[in-house]
Amino acid sequence: MARTDIIVLGAGIVGTSVALHLAKRGLAVALVDRGGAGEGTSYGNTGIIEGNTIFPAAFPSDWRELLRIALKRSPVANYHLTFLPKVAPWLLAFRAASQPKRLLETAQAMRPLMARAVAEHEAFAAEAGAERYLRHTGWLKLYRTDRAFAGLTRELDLAASLGIANVPLDGDAARALEPSLAPVFRHAVHWTGAVSVSNPLALTRAYAARFAAVGGLSFKGDARTLHRSGRQWRVDTAAGPLDADNAVVALGPWLPDVLDPLGVKLPLAVKRGYHRHYRTKGNAALSRPILDAENGYCLAPMEQGIRLTTGAEFAARDARPTPVQFDRLLPAARDLFPLGEGVETQPWLGARPCFPDSRPVIGRAPRQSRLWLACGHAHWGLTLGPVTGRLIADMITGATPFCDPAPYAAERFTD
Ligand SMILES: Cc1cc2nc3c(=O)[nH]c(=O)nc-3n(C[C@H](O)[C@H](O)[C@H](O)COP(=O)(O)OP(=O)(O)OC[C@H]3O[C@@H](n4cnc5c(N)ncnc54)[C@H](O)[C@@H]3O)c2cc1C
Repeated sequence: MARTDIIVLGAGIVGTSVALHLAKRGLAVALVDRGGAGEGTSYGNTGIIEGNTIFPAAFPSDWRELLRIALKRSPVANYHLTFLPKVAPWLLAFRAASQPKRLLETAQAMRPLMARAVAEHEAFAAEAGAERYLRHTGWLKLYRTDRAFAGLTRELDLAASLGIANVPLDGDAARALEPSLAPVFRHAVHWTGAVSVSNPLALTRAYAARFAAVGGLSFKGDARTLHRSGRQWRVDTAAGPLDADNAVVALGPWLPDVLDPLGVKLPLAVKRGYHRHYRTKGNAALSRPILDAENGYCLAPMEQGIRLTTGAEFAARDARPTPVQFDRLLPAARDLFPLGEGVETQPWLGARPCFPDSRPVIGRAPRQSRLWLACGHAHWGLTLGPVTGRLIADMITGATPFCDPAPYAAERFTD
């Protein structure tokens, strides 16, 4: 087999983007997945490239909301009771990272990646001939109550100081943008700089095709076979074993399957999320994704229909699907927008790979030479895939990183 400089494990939006950036720098790159590119978590997201995002999703600070979640009455989150003892340490760390001061630190740490996220996608989409999947119509967050909207003051002030474009709107002005929405909300913010994707799977596939066009090779294989072979990393593939000096683990929620056996323990949990597509009634349409803030779900126009995506479910990654959030949020969604029949019989289930501080890990694996990590992108993996690829390619090739990678180092959990 031809020489391989680097093996990238996982062909989600993150791994595919990493592989493409590395191949464009002239390295011989092998991209290994057990399935096809973009068929994991990257298949089912809301499709928002959220360069505008400032604060991460936070642990609820309002005890009434927490109580509703605990009583399983909130559409925003769900949990499996038997899983709570296992995820409790992670939840406590997540709660600590949700203090206002820590959220601000996270916002600042993520800004260099966020600020470049849309431009990196635009560049990839242009070279991959995938511009038709990108919509430059921003996204719209809706607030049903004055109280919820008032809670945005800090975020909007910070957006103003950072120059992140947004337009606060009253209900009528928002419905002028999206006439199919019913007047059940009082306020909205149009984040005009965000871009959305009409088919996230097709976008990742287009980036994978571009990777092939610049000389990259894709293989079917099981990442769990990764091991040392002399001074190199080896992984078994359907085409035989592959050896390379460097390997990048970009397995999203499956990261622990490879790291645990190597003795590298990182506090990755998953926030599971579902989607289902719906037909529209009559001529109803959406031009951009919508967040119904108090109800914690999104509606996004996709090639397959209107994709309704849910908030977080805390459960074991591989536990059976329990899409109860649909029952809790569908009445609100149907009040807001004329959703017709469901397209599929069963919802899709994915698992957002999340570290408790809502930052990804991008950089070297602790105590493993020439092993690199690009994972844990939580709610922002689609957004940050290409920019992550650039940063890790900078680090691996010895170029000056375009931003300081220290905030994303795995050592923040191990030292
Ligand atoms: C409901 C929902 C809505 C979301 N909305 C958005 C959004 O609007 N914007 C945004 O930016 N992000 C969003 N996200 C988050 C985003 O989808 C994820 O962060 C992102 O897809 C993670 O990408 P990844 O490449 O790290 O992981 P994945 O896409 O899961 O890729 C990992 C790959 O590893 C492969 N793999 C696993 N195990 C093995 C093995 N043993 N051997 C070989 N291969 C293996 C899998 O097949 C898969 O292809 C959303 C997530 C969900 C669930």
